[in-house]
Amino acid sequence: MNITDKVDSIKGVGPKTAALFEKLNIYTIEDLLRFYPRNYLSYKAPVDIDEAEVGQRVAIHATIQSYVDIKKVRSLKLVTCTVKDGTGAVKLVWYNSPFLKQVFHIGQSFVFVGTLSARGMQLQMEHPEYYTPEQYTRLQSSLQPVYSLTEGLSNKMVTKAVQGALSVLPGIKDEVPEAVREAFNLLSLPEAVQGVHFPTGMDGLMNCRNRLIFDEFFWFLVHMRQIREETVKAANHYVMKEWEMAEHFMGRLPFALTEGQKQAVEEIRRDLTGETVMNRLIQGDVGSGKTVVAEIAILAAVNNGYQAAFMAPTEVLAMQHFEGVRRDLEPYGVRVKLLVGSTKLSEKRKIYDALAEGEIDVLIGTHALIQDKVIYKKLSLVITDEQHRFGVRQRAKLSEKGNAPHVLVMSATPIPRTLAIIMYGDLDISIMNDMPAERKPIKNCVVGPKYRPTAYKFMKEQIDMGHQVYIICPMVEASENMEAENVIEYQESLMDVFPGTVRISYLHGKMSPEEKNSIMRDFAGGEIDILVSTTVIEVGINNPNATVMMIENAEKFGLAQLHQLRGRVGRGDSQSYCIMLCASDKQEALERLDILNRSNDGFYIANEDLKLRGPGDFFGVRQSGEMLFRLGDIYSNADMLKQANEAVKLLEKERYPFEELLKEEMGMVQL
Ligand code: ADP
Ligand code: MG
Repeated sequence: MNITDKVDSIKGVGPKTAALFEKLNIYTIEDLLRFYPRNYLSYKAPVDIDEAEVGQRVAIHATIQSYVDIKKVRSLKLVTCTVKDGTGAVKLVWYNSPFLKQVFHIGQSFVFVGTLSARGMQLQMEHPEYYTPEQYTRLQSSLQPVYSLTEGLSNKMVTKAVQGALSVLPGIKDEVPEAVREAFNLLSLPEAVQGVHFPTGMDGLMNCRNRLIFDEFFWFLVHMRQIREETVKAANHYVMKEWEMAEHFMGRLPFALTEGQKQAVEEIRRDLTGETVMNRLIQGDVGSGKTVVAEIAILAAVNNGYQAAFMAPTEVLAMQHFEGVRRDLEPYGVRVKLLVGSTKLSEKRKIYDALAEGEIDVLIGTHALIQDKVIYKKLSLVITDEQHRFGVRQRAKLSEKGNAPHVLVMSATPIPRTLAIIMYGDLDISIMNDMPAERKPIKNCVVGPKYRPTAYKFMKEQIDMGHQVYIICPMVEASENMEAENVIEYQESLMDVFPGTVRISYLHGKMSPEEKNSIMRDFAGGEIDILVSTTVIEVGINNPNATVMMIENAEKFGLAQLHQLRGRVGRGDSQSYCIMLCASDKQEALERLDILNRSNDGFYIANEDLKLRGPGDFFGVRQSGEMLFRLGDIYSNADMLKQANEAVKLLEKERYPFEELLKEEMGMVQL
């Protein structure tokens, strides 16, 4: 068996299972090995039944008291049996597992693991796992991987498949140069991969993760270095001396530019008129007004007779930019077109032709913009919004488009400058750290579910004042298909709460781009009062009239993500509000949310969040929202990022032939 083989070459993985794996984008053994657990279960010591907490996952060590009973309830076989441990009794319940009659006999002891519930006076455990005491003792010293699943694929199936795949590990090639492995004391790659799936303990797990995170950063930086080598020297083929239109535009804006915006525009102007090509990152918190800076740059390009491309990570955002840019720049005779995945083929063809003829000045869209078949007549400027959503490869592709165009990337990720220099080493950085002056800080609150009716009443008042509301539904972890149902159900329940005059719609990730776009357009046009949504609205959406955001199950989100979500309100002159509904009364959850409650500053939030974290806190919650890495998080793993950076420098000092590294298929790591 080889790492590049299809998953169905693993023993026990048939075509059916392989098809399920495909749904998770797992095709080869390598894909499977890189499908890291999203969490781990540890098996804690069994507790006495009378001390076991209801609603919690617990282990009890108990003896079978009754014969296994099988009842038919509609189409289900209900299997039950009672166990006792001297302090109490629990009724165990399974569905459709009649074979258990052969497993459990009166007087035998097992360890049962599951979530306790109370049915009147009776304690109950549904579908507990069961182990012999010896098996359980062995389990207790390990961490069990928990994988993301899809319908039909169980955690057991994934675990078994991964176990089967491990046999290829001794044969894999470690592409990280030996000098680096030695200098930084790295675990071997096979050891790390095995240990991240089946850790022997928390310390071991951390070491294995660190090795894999190091790799992610290392390869990223090797590529960055390459991009830098290739782009830095490019001369400015598009010197933009004419700024009349841009100046006119700035003079007629309905607001004064912030100091940060002015500075950024100044720096861009210097780049565009300078000797070498622009490679600039604008980093500005949510709502700091990055879009208008992009518009100014676009206008300068067109003023000088060139074309520009403006790229966004989602169709919804591309559409919004398209409408905004058209509204703002068409008065200057700028010809704007939209090109996204869902654009009709005939329309696409027309766009390609017009673009090559130079009949389009600005093309706005998703990464469809930089595909090979898209040919520009004189592309001078490429702008990407929400840069952190794109990979490095895509970024590299930007500079390769046309004849070394200027590149401007925009990001809301609050990275400290030292990290930004590593992450975006090939770029000059403009930081906009002030908010528009008349902007009122968002008022926040963290409340329990009991507050919900009050929140609804408050929303109604805001709607009566002509404002709009976002409600973010909780994420459903286990199943993606639940996402839609969940949102629709929530919307329906709202219909009972609000009078018929309140217009409620919903949005979720499974909708087609057309559906999403149409909802977003209605929302922007004020035809929807309450938009119930999953986090799909997170990226970039701007509706200054929306003043309330309520986030259900706020405790389930990472702080960075909450901050981005919250950034959808507080974008206009009216006072805005963010209601974080916390369903947990755990101290840590409240403490974490309190950070957002206290501050609207992305930098501050990221730093405080970091302080609260302990080792092992890395599951599920991503700090920075950087999507580039599977495991690595530039914030929480800043130390690894710095090490990987030093590793690249070390190789540079030794004049290591980087081309060799880049030539190799990069083994276990991809960007
Ligand atoms: P982001 O930086 O999050 O992309 P946007 O560019 O979408 O933010 O701007 C958010 C809102 O702020 C928009 O409605 C925009 O018109 C407005 N805006 C931008 N700059 C200013 C400013 N200097 N003063 C007031 N409002 C501004
Ligand atoms: Mg934006």
